[in-house]
Amino acid sequence: MRNVIIVGSGCAGNTAAIYAARASLKPLVIIGHEPGGQLSITSEVENFPGFPKGIDGPELVENMKLQAERFGAEYIYGGVHEADLAGKNSGEPFRLNIDDEWHEARTIIIASGASARWLGLPNEQKLIGKGVSSCATCDGAFYKGRPVLVVGGGDSAMEEANFLSRFASKIYLVHRRNEFRASKIMLDRARANEKIQFVTPVVVEDISDVTKGGVETMVLRNTETNQSSTLPVSGVFIAIGHVPNTRIFRGKLDMDENGYLITHHGSLTKVPGVFAAGDVQDHRYKQAVTAAGSGCMAALDAEKFLEANP
Ligand code: NAP
Repeated sequence: MRNVIIVGSGCAGNTAAIYAARASLKPLVIIGHEPGGQLSITSEVENFPGFPKGIDGPELVENMKLQAERFGAEYIYGGVHEADLAGKNSGEPFRLNIDDEWHEARTIIIASGASARWLGLPNEQKLIGKGVSSCATCDGAFYKGRPVLVVGGGDSAMEEANFLSRFASKIYLVHRRNEFRASKIMLDRARANEKIQFVTPVVVEDISDVTKGGVETMVLRNTETNQSSTLPVSGVFIAIGHVPNTRIFRGKLDMDENGYLITHHGSLTKVPGVFAAGDVQDHRYKQAVTAAGSGCMAALDAEKFLEANP
């Protein structure tokens, strides 16, 4: 039986692993279906303290993993399909089904993060990987010299649009309002980029052409005039936020109306011995550094719990 199993290998999970491993708890980290979490699909991170020249997201998160492994953290590939959190009442350990194998633990740190949100259009899902993407760093290079469209009005959309300007001939940044949620610095940078054209207040109504197996045209609608129009593009990048990965904990842990885990006194959930850290429980800050901080808190809370419940 493990002292602690950490679910997720993003910023929060890796930081929890560093702290738990340094406390000699020999944590097991479940890498999950998005290894490295959101940092692994980010380009340059400019606001993580300690890197005055910035650092690539994948490098930053890989460094965290190496740091945790140095102190004895063990990483396994796989995803958690089921969680048994009930046994604790009768003195039994928690159990997690990881790719059809049950693993037991005295404490669990949930750092399963959040995944990209999609628009929900019928053709969108059919064209994922064929012109529809949620990751410019992964797919941007396919669009050299071609026009693309980015949907969203937050920092992610600005970051995606700026990154795509390295390759694409033109980037249409489509947002449903005239006001932006993005920070001023990111917005100003996108506005100053000659390749980026802002298209607002506009929603995406359809993506075609499924019959041709790729993105060719976007159907847009201006929400003020209600007029529809079409725009020829080769790719579309959806950057409209994220949804927390909490499905397997439904009915077992408290969540808010959007599915984010509710924590109290730091990282505590309603089940003693189960802790949560990072974007899975944070709909407000959602930064790499805040995720790292909460991963640290969860590991310290788990350590304290184990001391109190030997
Ligand atoms: P976000 O701030 O929640 O913004 C999501 C955007 O998508 C909003 O503009 C929202 O529009 C729009 N949207 C949501 N659902 C939509 C739908 N169904 N159809 C059309 N548009 C929709 O998410 P984010 O941009 O991913 O950023 C998340 C967090 O990460 C933020 O705290 C951000 O600061 C941080 N972040 C930081 C950096 C950086 O500093 N380098 C980079 C990326 C992200 P409305 O505004 O109308 O609601």
